[in-house]
Amino acid sequence: MKKIHALVLPFPAQGHVIPLMKLSNYLSEHGFKITFVNTESNHETVVASLPKQSNSKENGIRLVSIPDGRDPGAGERDFAHLLDSISASMPNYLEVLIREINESSDDDDKITCVIADENMGWAVKVAKKMKIPAAAFWTASVWLRTVHLHLEQMIETGILDSEEGVPTQQQMMQFSPDMPAMNTDMFPWTLTGDSILQKSFFRSIRSNTQDIKDADWFLCNSVYELEKPNFPLNKNLLPVGPLLLAADQQEQLSGNFLAEDSTCLSWLDQQPARSVIYLAFGSTTILNKHQFHELALGLEQTSQPFLWAVRPSLTDIDAYPDGFQARVANRSRIVGWAPQQKVLAHPSIACFVAHCGWNSTMEGVAMGVPFLCWPYFVDQFLNQSYICDVWKVGLRLNKNDGGIISKEEFINKVMALLADEMIRARALELKDISKKNVSEGGSSMTNLTNFIESVKSKLQ
Ligand code: UDP
Repeated sequence: MKKIHALVLPFPAQGHVIPLMKLSNYLSEHGFKITFVNTESNHETVVASLPKQSNSKENGIRLVSIPDGRDPGAGERDFAHLLDSISASMPNYLEVLIREINESSDDDDKITCVIADENMGWAVKVAKKMKIPAAAFWTASVWLRTVHLHLEQMIETGILDSEEGVPTQQQMMQFSPDMPAMNTDMFPWTLTGDSILQKSFFRSIRSNTQDIKDADWFLCNSVYELEKPNFPLNKNLLPVGPLLLAADQQEQLSGNFLAEDSTCLSWLDQQPARSVIYLAFGSTTILNKHQFHELALGLEQTSQPFLWAVRPSLTDIDAYPDGFQARVANRSRIVGWAPQQKVLAHPSIACFVAHCGWNSTMEGVAMGVPFLCWPYFVDQFLNQSYICDVWKVGLRLNKNDGGIISKEEFINKVMALLADEMIRARALELKDISKKNVSEGGSSMTNLTNFIESVKSKLQ
């Protein structure tokens, strides 16, 4: 029988490449051939971070790249420029790539399905134009997707201006009676801190939200029970989360942009159960020197062991307090990039100080770890609301009048979280719910199986 050859296209950011790679690993293990499309700017970093023993051809995933159209002079952090160049040039590059693959393949090897990140919604249009079935994949909370689906309505009714999506006044919004209300000042595109970026971001969200409409399938990295009230508003959306790497990850590709430092795992083995504070801020958070310094002092004053992921771009290299690393050396590990899923699954972990990116949120929930929330921007504040107010598996950190989370606030909240048995019990309940969902007969697993069957049926 003809094999399914799926072309998978993530938005070129870490929090998008990782979940689509997890999905690709799963599909590859279920007989799909995968062509995973990076943009040229992150292709090398993904390839460089592959585990030495991995052979992407052998496990059925081929990594390729196309340009994102960015002007080579544009700074790496020029996100507005990236958004504009992606929509202007990538549809054409993608179409050329698909044609090239199809022209050089026999019938059994042609692309039979496109799986596009909804943040690259235009790719659904490309696939449909080429008469290829397409799946749209949403990498964030369904709550955020619900907000996006209401954009046009909010523009029409004057709640948002149509240029930058700025709310005309602050108000509480509730999209369905069972969903939590949210203040319009939590709309993620308004939390970028830059008006040019906000405009590009808002324009890109609007057009992608329109472009995905013709997809044949809609998948997301969420769990039905965790976001139940949203699903009636997200027609045909199938939750398949939490997507995780298999426990034996040797054969799986992670999609990491930085090489994992796994030496911390043997250190975790030596720590008492439920003792270690794990801190990680995802791939984009920046802490200014003052904030980083204050957090380090807070960590020093707790007597707990800690594991801290400090990627090179998190802060200035000289932000550590003088002598800090030597003073905490006997009870800590600092790594550039942690093997996060394995860390969270480790019995020595007591809590997760997290920036509340959606992947980190799903991973912490799946492992039953209580959260101390440190959101930085965009949807991380919505995710914090889920964690603290809806699911009740974590606590917030509050900034002082100087805009800083003080060491006293950090210490008080860590201690309160570690002593909170209700939060811990609830975190374990959510772990159980997540586990059931991805086990045989669970709704996420059933959705994935049905998706695979449905894709196969289109081939016949
Ligand atoms: N991550 C990791 N090691 C680290 C920090 C992050 O493996 O030291 C992974 C984490 O497991 C998650 C992803 O990077 O899968 C970050 O995605 P998320 O949506 O949480 O945040 P973003 O980077 O998009 O802000």
